[in-house]
Amino acid sequence: MTADAAAVESLSPTTKAEILIEALPWIQRFRDKVVVVKYGGNAMVDPALARSFAEDVVLMHAVGIRPVVVHGGGPQIGDLMARLGKKTEFRDGLRVTDAETLDIARMVLVGKVNRDIVASINVHGPLSVGLSGEDAGLILASARNPDLGFVGDVEAVNPAIVERLLGEGLIPVISTIGADLAGQAYNINADTVAGAIAVAVGAEKIVYLTDIEGLRGDVDDPQSLIRRATAADLQSLVDNGTIAGGMIPKVAACVHAAEHGVGSAHMIDGRVPHVLLLEIFTNRGIGTMVTRDRVIDPTTEDDS
Ligand code: ADP
Ligand code: MG
Repeated sequence: MTADAAAVESLSPTTKAEILIEALPWIQRFRDKVVVVKYGGNAMVDPALARSFAEDVVLMHAVGIRPVVVHGGGPQIGDLMARLGKKTEFRDGLRVTDAETLDIARMVLVGKVNRDIVASINVHGPLSVGLSGEDAGLILASARNPDLGFVGDVEAVNPAIVERLLGEGLIPVISTIGADLAGQAYNINADTVAGAIAVAVGAEKIVYLTDIEGLRGDVDDPQSLIRRATAADLQSLVDNGTIAGGMIPKVAACVHAAEHGVGSAHMIDGRVPHVLLLEIFTNRGIGTMVTRDRVIDPTTEDDS
């Protein structure tokens, strides 16, 4: 038994019941709603965290929420590139995705990472189906910049296949390879795809699991967590350079989602076991929450 399991075991029955009942308003609120989860970073490479992620997704599904998982896989692509002795070419500081690199990315994302996530969910029952943005025309892509090769942007999302799977009570797990009208595949940033899918399916919430506790007002200061932000607040943080690197596409996607009907967007710490469950089912505010407008909603106020 783990230390956490032992601690739960030692709680009184009333306390255990209190913990369960804390989830009731959240279960009621999100019942039948679509929640898009972008899965990436450490949460994906650590086997124990991967198991707890699968449990959280299955629990959400079991109480009537409709989860959609969108995953990244940059580190895994880098690993296979290294094993194959393939060098990444940079042009003006930007990574070039040539045909061979695209093949590697597609093999890793669709053939390995996607399969692993689907398998970890299906340990709990025949629940999950994996697909790529190429399937049933889900993601129409276009070249971001022809000089960078097969790095794509989302041109359009056709959510029909995702809606059909959700209608069958299944949990879609999506790799972020898209195709253009001629069938050419492109690798697309998973943060961007997650936001576009959340908008297209009318998700209630989008949650980004990342490798930091949330958005920081100062990237070097762990005490500077920004708990709440509006889309406009974030835009000014991008403009003044507070947000850098891998946070840029995440924040842009959160702004896009919040401005196009998704109730809230969250960036939370994927290094924490069961962080998804804590975000959805408890009263504690966790990570960074982004909404279109400033909301003072008593049911979403955290007590900190
Ligand atoms: P993911 O796998 O979740 O896409 P990324 O590495 O792409 O992870 O993005 C998260 C990283 O963004 C953080 O680990 C951090 O180094 C960086 N970052 C840049 N600016 C910020 C900021 N203002 N707040 C938090 N993280 C930031
Ligand atoms: Mg990233």
